[in-house]
Amino acid sequence: MASYRAVAFDLFDTLVDFDISLFPVVEIDGREEKTTSRAAYDALYDGGFLVPNYPAFHQLWLQNSKEVWGERNSDPELKEVRSIVRFRLLMDLLVAIPAQDRERAALTALNAHMYGIENSVVFDTDRLDVLGKIKDADLPIALLSNFDHAPTARRIIDKMGITPYMDSILISEDEGFRKPASSLFLKVAEELDVAPGEVLFVGDTFDADVTGPQSVGMPCAWLNRKGAPVPEGCRPPDFEIEDIRDTLSILGL
Ligand SMILES: [Mg+2]
Repeated sequence: MASYRAVAFDLFDTLVDFDISLFPVVEIDGREEKTTSRAAYDALYDGGFLVPNYPAFHQLWLQNSKEVWGERNSDPELKEVRSIVRFRLLMDLLVAIPAQDRERAALTALNAHMYGIENSVVFDTDRLDVLGKIKDADLPIALLSNFDHAPTARRIIDKMGITPYMDSILISEDEGFRKPASSLFLKVAEELDVAPGEVLFVGDTFDADVTGPQSVGMPCAWLNRKGAPVPEGCRPPDFEIEDIRDTLSILGL
């Protein structure tokens, strides 16, 4: 068995889970959609900002998300787009809001959106036992998450009681780049004061959490709860696990 000197985890759908049933539902053109756009709209409306009717706002919301994420996801440099930047661009589409009010409006919409996200996250507290056992074995632990609003990610980690177990917490918004950027995985190893090959990385998204660590020679365990196949042409992960508890057997704990 390889000897690992540290462990690093992805956050969303690895340590904590999005529960889609908790996500806000709105009816648009007779169809139900899960979106935080209504919450953002209501916050803007209640804040006295000049917004169109909700269906028109939702269309602009979709246009903005598609443009921003489309550009982000095709960026070969893997730069993160901060949430505030996305919301500033959305405000530029809301032409009735005067220029001097747009920053305040962007923050209003961002906060309402993040509140919806935060309240859709659940945590299985058994996972703290997994983190505790790793800590008891004197292995440092890091968390590396793609997320466009670091304060929200940190609030979620705090609320779930995860923060005290972490020796390093890296969020893509703060780092400026998204997984699978190699630089992030090198930084994880550096922050834990070990070589990349001595860290076990655990995460659920193949591209981010498997090809990323592989690019720096970091062993990885793919949390593959649904038994998805390894994407064609990709190198399989060192380990495939169905439950985060399986991390412990890989570590020999
Ligand atoms: Mg994930």
